[in-house]
Amino acid sequence: MTALYDRNSQARPNASPIPSGVPQKLSVVSPGVTSSEPVLAWLEQVLQERFGLPLLLERDGPERLYLRHAEAPGHILFDRLQPGFYLAGVDLPHCQWEATEEGFDAPLDLPLPAPGAASLPRPLVEPAAGGLTIHYDILGLTYWMLSRVEEVDAQVLDRHCRFPASASHAGRHGYLERPVVDEWLAVLGQVIRRQWPQAQLRQHEFTLRPSHDVDRPSRYGFARDVKLARVMLGDALLHRRPQALLVGPWVRLCTRRRLHPLDPLNTFDWLMDVSERHGLTSAFYFICGRTDPRKDADYEPEHPAMRHLMRRIHERGHEVGLHPSYHTFRNPKELANEAERLRRVCAEEGIEQAQWGGRMHYLRWQMPLTLQGYEQAGLDYDTTLSYAEAPGFRCGTCFDYPAFDPVKGEPLALRIRPLIAMEASVISPLYLGLGTGEEAFKRFSMLKARCRAVGGTFTLLWHNSELTTSAQRELYERVLSD
Ligand SMILES: [Zn+2]
Repeated sequence: MTALYDRNSQARPNASPIPSGVPQKLSVVSPGVTSSEPVLAWLEQVLQERFGLPLLLERDGPERLYLRHAEAPGHILFDRLQPGFYLAGVDLPHCQWEATEEGFDAPLDLPLPAPGAASLPRPLVEPAAGGLTIHYDILGLTYWMLSRVEEVDAQVLDRHCRFPASASHAGRHGYLERPVVDEWLAVLGQVIRRQWPQAQLRQHEFTLRPSHDVDRPSRYGFARDVKLARVMLGDALLHRRPQALLVGPWVRLCTRRRLHPLDPLNTFDWLMDVSERHGLTSAFYFICGRTDPRKDADYEPEHPAMRHLMRRIHERGHEVGLHPSYHTFRNPKELANEAERLRRVCAEEGIEQAQWGGRMHYLRWQMPLTLQGYEQAGLDYDTTLSYAEAPGFRCGTCFDYPAFDPVKGEPLALRIRPLIAMEASVISPLYLGLGTGEEAFKRFSMLKARCRAVGGTFTLLWHNSELTTSAQRELYERVLSD
């Protein structure tokens, strides 16, 4: 693999703003023709999806980028490109921009974080010959955030080998809870309307996507003898539920063709009921392999009770997906095998879906190896990207977008569906530790409101196994209803 990134480089004055292997000379793009640079062609697609307009990008040397409308004259010029957005291992500066002071609407009514700029000129947007000029690299920011450039060759990893929020630029500069790309694209939308007043920008409607990683579908149903005894004794003694000593063996005995209704982790029908009451569709991601016996599931997807569960999810109009096992984030071949296994079981059960997606177990992710695993597996989307330790906008957006490999410099046939919050990130003492009360609700509610403010999607992960108490269920319902 060609090293595209020099980990030790600081933003060198002559650093190339585009990955190598890409022609760096001025590319003249005729209207209606997609840019020949993969990064620019990909950015054009992102803009097309966001604004619904035929927008074209044309590079003018290393410092300047033109945004043109295929059917209208004039341009928007970005005249301060940040080369560091295209390099891993660069510590970018950060400042803020007061949109309202310059006559723009800020979607969250807050100053916009501006990664990559130590300071910004005023005014930020100025008329110039033939159009408007923006003195901030909004598109470089978009590329940098969406393709997760800063995670390539990351040196700081947590105990699950995950790139932690605390090492991220957003975590260090305090804007992880901001959909920074969406906020800046909202500003760009306003500049587009100023430049091309006739243009009809696409409007996006807020959506909510509940999803559920099926790590433990049953408390007692699949456990082997010693483990079963341990779980039951723990429930009886530590959790003060003596009935576990009776329920456990009974559930174990009866979990043959379906999960038992008395099983405390069998919350699937309840989850589907709640989603249906809110007019939502739930996605359930199943583990289909065992790359770490201690961290992966104790069930097999071929078990009749699991087949029955998947069938039931499908019959009720919800979604079945893959939860790739613990070590697959660095093992594309195994990830592909697990996807194949899920599709085979589903085919045998008559489960047909227009698309198949998944989320990595433990939210493990290595850029870009995990992306390659998804591509090899032929999956349509991934919805892993959030940090376990803190909820928010790891990719700076709450919109789906086409994946891009920042090392190969190529787009992939895969969609990224950023995860905004996992229940444990907010509730668990391992992470924010806000519990299941008012404080936790407020945090979920704030994140959801921010997704709504930019017309995006609030993707929520709530494990079926984290709904055993009435406080947990109440909080979940409040978050959905809010
Ligand atoms: Zn999991």
